[in-house]
Amino acid sequence: MRALAVFPEDKQIRIIDHPEPAKTWPKQLRVKVLEVGVCGTDKEIARHLHGDTPKDDAYMIMHHEALGEVLEVGAEVKGFAVGDLVVPTVRRPCGWMECMPCSMDRQDFCSTGAYTERGIVKAHGFATEQIVDEAKCFVKVPAALRDVGVLVEPLTIAEKGLLQVWDIQERLPWRTRHVGRGKGPKLRALVLGAGPIGLLGAVLLADNGFDTHVYSLEDSDDPRAKMVESVGASYHCAKNLDVKALWKTLGDVDIVYEATGASKLSFSVLELMGPNGIFVFTGVPGRKEPFEFDGAKVMRNLVLENHVLLGTVNAGMDAFEAAVRDLAVWQVKWPHIFETLISGRYDLEDHAGLYDGSIPGVKNVMRVAK
Ligand code: BGC
Repeated sequence: MRALAVFPEDKQIRIIDHPEPAKTWPKQLRVKVLEVGVCGTDKEIARHLHGDTPKDDAYMIMHHEALGEVLEVGAEVKGFAVGDLVVPTVRRPCGWMECMPCSMDRQDFCSTGAYTERGIVKAHGFATEQIVDEAKCFVKVPAALRDVGVLVEPLTIAEKGLLQVWDIQERLPWRTRHVGRGKGPKLRALVLGAGPIGLLGAVLLADNGFDTHVYSLEDSDDPRAKMVESVGASYHCAKNLDVKALWKTLGDVDIVYEATGASKLSFSVLELMGPNGIFVFTGVPGRKEPFEFDGAKVMRNLVLENHVLLGTVNAGMDAFEAAVRDLAVWQVKWPHIFETLISGRYDLEDHAGLYDGSIPGVKNVMRVAK
């Protein structure tokens, strides 16, 4: 099978011939990979700054965001049929007896750190014609989502963040009594960054009724800003607006959803947070120069104002199912957003430009199997 693989030792990325999975076991699905999404993590792996090959292999097949079509259903699998569209989850359990999260299929909270992640850490990814995996590692996607289903995995990052926000908000009973779609009305959210994770988060927060504000570097007439405004959120260009000045005009912000990986900006916003605020970190910064920040001030506010700092990574099946549901809703409610979110479709041969940024875009996609 054709596969796109990274060779960390040789610092190379090549299209290779990788053996086809030999057999589909009773609890497994065989899936044809239709397309994969390119994200910041893939770009880091492509720069050989992140990622790890499977044990015994000199290379790792790239990519963890995928949409596929079921080719074969194992004898004991229920709920899937040949031809179904599916999205695979990314993380696989560590297999250690003492790891409660992994033993409950919640490897996104793995407590040993010995998990693997397909296309990222010690497991082959999805940029190959066929994959075989346990059926419980896939979520079914309606056929109507063929063109946007590749966004399920990146959306799960925001979904998992929001699911945890609702859990945390339980501590404020007057905040959770809202009935209807989303529990966001009367809450304000500030999204830092307008990359794919930021934009998907902004749409999710806006759809849940939050008064949503996005702060990012793109100009105010950039399609990303326009898209944000089209779902009822506000866009603030960071080029000529200090985040402190923005905060003053907004008043209290209940949720900060960080999707920049920019630690200096994030901690300067943390210093501003008001009563009962929740700060959700989703970015994984590369190594940067250390910087100073007012730890005593942040700690004082944290305690005196009931702050919660939440780091969130990867996602469980609940977030995957929520992502599928929300994409289906948005496809009817805001079909135009996908023109901005999915920038272009390319072939595996185009990988170099997609990784080095010479092919720009919010979310670029590569077609895999013909
Ligand atoms: C992926 C997550 C993964 C994380 C850390 C992200 O790009 O979407 O599934 O857990 O990287 O490796």
